[in-house]
Amino acid sequence: MSTNRRDFIKFVVAGAVTAGCPIDLSLVAQTDKSQNAPEVDGEDNRICHRVRDQGSKAFARPPASARHDVVIVGGGVSGLAAAYRLRHRDFLLLEKEPHWGGNAYAMEYDGCTYATGAAFLVKDEHAYDFAKEIGLEPLPVNCSDPSIIRGELIPDTWGEGLNKLPYPASVREAFKKFKKEMLAIDVEKRSTELYNQPFSDFLKGYPIELKQWWDNFGPSNWGATSEETAAAIAILALQEMVEESHADDRYTWPGGLGAITKKLAGILQTSHNDRVLTGATIVAVAPEKEAVQVTYMLGGELKTIAAKAVIMATPKFITRRIVEGLPDAQDQAMGKIHYIPYPVVNLIFDKPVFNHGYDTWCPGNTFTDFIVADWVIRKQPGYKQKFNILSCYTPMKEDDRGYLLAENGARKIAANVLIDFQKLIPGMNVDPIEVHIYRRGHPLYKTMPGLYTRVQPLVRHPMDRVFFANTDAEGPESTTNGGILAAHRAVKEVEARLAGKPVPKQNAIAG
Ligand SMILES: Cc1cc2nc3c(=O)[nH]c(=O)nc-3n(C[C@H](O)[C@H](O)[C@H](O)COP(=O)(O)OP(=O)(O)OC[C@H]3O[C@@H](n4cnc5c(N)ncnc54)[C@H](O)[C@@H]3O)c2cc1C
Repeated sequence: MSTNRRDFIKFVVAGAVTAGCPIDLSLVAQTDKSQNAPEVDGEDNRICHRVRDQGSKAFARPPASARHDVVIVGGGVSGLAAAYRLRHRDFLLLEKEPHWGGNAYAMEYDGCTYATGAAFLVKDEHAYDFAKEIGLEPLPVNCSDPSIIRGELIPDTWGEGLNKLPYPASVREAFKKFKKEMLAIDVEKRSTELYNQPFSDFLKGYPIELKQWWDNFGPSNWGATSEETAAAIAILALQEMVEESHADDRYTWPGGLGAITKKLAGILQTSHNDRVLTGATIVAVAPEKEAVQVTYMLGGELKTIAAKAVIMATPKFITRRIVEGLPDAQDQAMGKIHYIPYPVVNLIFDKPVFNHGYDTWCPGNTFTDFIVADWVIRKQPGYKQKFNILSCYTPMKEDDRGYLLAENGARKIAANVLIDFQKLIPGMNVDPIEVHIYRRGHPLYKTMPGLYTRVQPLVRHPMDRVFFANTDAEGPESTTNGGILAAHRAVKEVEARLAGKPVPKQNAIAG
């Protein structure tokens, strides 16, 4: 595509890379080197930089002006789910962005919804029942994943598709042998070993094409290539994909799991509008004997509130900078979690371009896979696809985070996605009417060896009055389900603490 042709397409950059702010040192280091000040939508970096440079104590904290039973910090799915379970309490939910949803957030183009993050859930997850509980009927995906490899569309990649991979016969046979070997593994029985071993060990001796497939799939799902992936997570993913090829148990809504956060936010705003605040950035959480002092910046003003208990539903790289008095081992465990930058590029077409599969894998491109935004409603009676919106998932390496900072860098990434997309298979060389990129600096943690078994149990250990939610407290993989489970565990811990009972043993608990 020529630059000129590309110039006619409207590129819209949304999302603040520093949504991970207050304090990402790596980002800020790159900012300082840059000649041009980065454009970061709606974010006031001064707050972040002060916490980073001087710690949470840098803020002259006003005395508490209000008291609540529970303050919940962070309005992603985890914080929202916690607030929903605590509706009977005097709670306050605070979110720094101007909107709810965190990484499970959908946007709209002319009435058509598309995902900027989380896409689907599976039926045996607690999230499925929780969605029903809040009044959402999950819609079936019912399509095993295709791949596009070397210009060919291969339906049902890990089922019938293995016979059609456009590779030499010996490579196709190696894919089949690998599948058989992985299906024979009892992950539950060997879980300690497999959550601590890199997946790349299992790819040794296999052709490079197999590693390429997994080094495309892994970053999209759990942020890591095979060397950095805990083997259990990849083996389970393959076993699930093979099952999907017989009966797909994935569910979603148009635009993905942003439907859940939108519904939760709607419920809370209707019943408790005065207890849910956006645009409120927490800068300090200071536990004291009788209460926790929570200081936040809202509209340029600092405010402190006292709470009997606090649920931190923020990611841990932020949490550890805000919560004072964390035990060293817990602080270090939080510091061990790695997060990748992960923009999602939505290509908006005013005519049908691709409707052959829900989630199509494309090894060897700028993006890893793309999803058809309205897949689950496209066959509903009377439905007519107005726009074909394709959400291209574009996980990046940690070292490349700086590219997202400036708007130009983000636009370039989106333009590269479009260039690669248009070359995939004949018929896709069509210009979209708009390209939207939603950039996030640290939305997905990497499921590395040891994380689930050694790091996450330490990370979620409750302090006296401070409790830890967010999907990164749960594991083994960053999911909306994990965020909800973490919230429900933290709520149980809070209820016990407020009732003066022993805090339940900390494990992921459904319900
Ligand atoms: C591209 C992508 C695709 C994904 N696909 C899937 C999928 O298909 N299925 C699935 O289940 N999961 C998927 N995930 C993972 C899923 O989105 C997350 O696990 C989930 O949304 C995490 O929710 P959370 O509430 O735990 O954390 P977050 O979404 O990180 O929420 C934390 C919230 O805290 C706020 N916050 C941060 N700092 C402060 C502060 N100082 N003060 C106040 N508020 C603050 C943030 O703005 C944010 O809203 C995907 C993730 C990404 C990035």
